[in-house]
Amino acid sequence: MTPPLMQVSGLSKSFPGVLALDDVTLEIQPGEVHALVGENGAGKSTLIKILAGAYRADRGRILWEGTEVQLKDAAAATRLGISVIHQDLNLVPNLSVAENVLLGRPAPKRLGLFVNWGELSRRARRAIERLDAEFDPQTPLRELSHAMRVLVAIARALTTDARLIIMDEPTAALSAAEADRLHEIVRDLSGSGTAVLYVSHRLDEVLALANTITVFKDGRHVGTVPRSAVTDKRELTQMIIGRRLNEATERSQTRAPGEVLVEVRNVSLGQRLKGASLTVRANEVVGLAGLVGSGRSELGRVIFGAERPAAGSIIINDRPVRKNSPRLAMSRGVAMLPEDRRNQASIATMSIRQNTTLVSMGKYLWGPFFSSRRERKAVKGLIERFQIKVVSMARPIRQLSGGNQQKVIVARWVNRSPSVLIFDEPTQGVDVGAKQEILGIVSALADDGAGVVFISSELDEVLQVSDRIVVLREGEVAAELKGPDVTRDQVLHACYGTDELT
Ligand code: ADP
Ligand code: MG
Repeated sequence: MTPPLMQVSGLSKSFPGVLALDDVTLEIQPGEVHALVGENGAGKSTLIKILAGAYRADRGRILWEGTEVQLKDAAAATRLGISVIHQDLNLVPNLSVAENVLLGRPAPKRLGLFVNWGELSRRARRAIERLDAEFDPQTPLRELSHAMRVLVAIARALTTDARLIIMDEPTAALSAAEADRLHEIVRDLSGSGTAVLYVSHRLDEVLALANTITVFKDGRHVGTVPRSAVTDKRELTQMIIGRRLNEATERSQTRAPGEVLVEVRNVSLGQRLKGASLTVRANEVVGLAGLVGSGRSELGRVIFGAERPAAGSIIINDRPVRKNSPRLAMSRGVAMLPEDRRNQASIATMSIRQNTTLVSMGKYLWGPFFSSRRERKAVKGLIERFQIKVVSMARPIRQLSGGNQQKVIVARWVNRSPSVLIFDEPTQGVDVGAKQEILGIVSALADDGAGVVFISSELDEVLQVSDRIVVLREGEVAAELKGPDVTRDQVLHACYGTDELT
């Protein structure tokens, strides 16, 4: 009997304070499509990084065709025939498609053979042809859509003669038609003997594609089953959530929502939002839940004017908005803390003081004069109010921990006294202590009368701070859940689209 292509056993990996993988097992057969599913934080990406040679496991064994192997680095994984398509794809926009495809080839031996570039580019072209992609290999990558780039990443994997291609949420940012095309390619690869380890939150596609399904939860291997053993999406969702049936999560005090501050009606934005509506009232936190790519951030960005919807209407503070823009939204009292704070929101080398008053400089002007005394006093007050741990407000913001940086950015917007605040993943990358503090700030702002839109992938946080939870699925509002009895299960079923069955 031929051994499995890959066998992972007893694999553990911890990070300070977290056991990310706890004694996990996984077996992959040649040519199968093996889906790996689990909630956020289940350990999927950690496993992938170990298999890619990016992380070393603390314990455990990896067998490749029956022989134990060490995946010391990325080159070792590539040499074996493991190729990973990360969510961010790791492509270079300024290089051509062909050059990007060739990036994947194993590094040439330092001495010995000459690199046969002619042969390499022929292989690149063949890999692109195999995918039926309609682009010229000489096209600069930056001219391609995200979906096309996914194909380039797959072509790159093919030139390395990958026998196991690992895809981490490959369809998260794709439209339905583009995802279908990718599914075809996955079936094709599998048909020609390449195994695919497919990580996805979209359970419909998992059920349609996979031969085998493995479920991880809290770093542990919950089970592996053949596709045929899973009846439907609801059963798979139960496996993913585990036995925490209708566990009630502790909720903050209930507030009495006031007047309507923002009214969004039937907004559409390409494939990302399809007629979504949302009402935000004073004195409440509206949590937006949904899977990656469900349109949560887009809805927030539409209210803030960072995206202009193709259809639909927006009313802010009783006045219709025709051409929304961040400037207009800000003038009507809307503030937004964007998701990717390191790239968008904070200016790393600017001081804490400058970062705090970046969007409210006007407050310290008196005629043409700028009062730095008043500015310093205000910043000092905010530092105290949000308990930001700083040595001096003159230091660059990048010297602060992630949690404290995030609090500076919260302070920046609160200083404008906005009536509506949109938080997009405000606790991403901050430690547990800072997380609770930020959630406390979110609650306090709503208690003080603001309307807060809270977007997070951490369901427990959404349940903890929200008065009302709006669940988005593929650009549409799938459910609205309210009241102290909302459970994690209800929200998850709505996220996965299995709520109709309850
Ligand atoms: P998944 O991909 O299933 O969402 P991850 O593998 O990313 O899960 O994370 C598993 C756990 O390990 C989580 O608790 C996460 O916070 C933690 N973790 C992952 N990477 C790191 C890291 N580089 N440093 C610290 N903790 C990490
Ligand atoms: Mg992950």
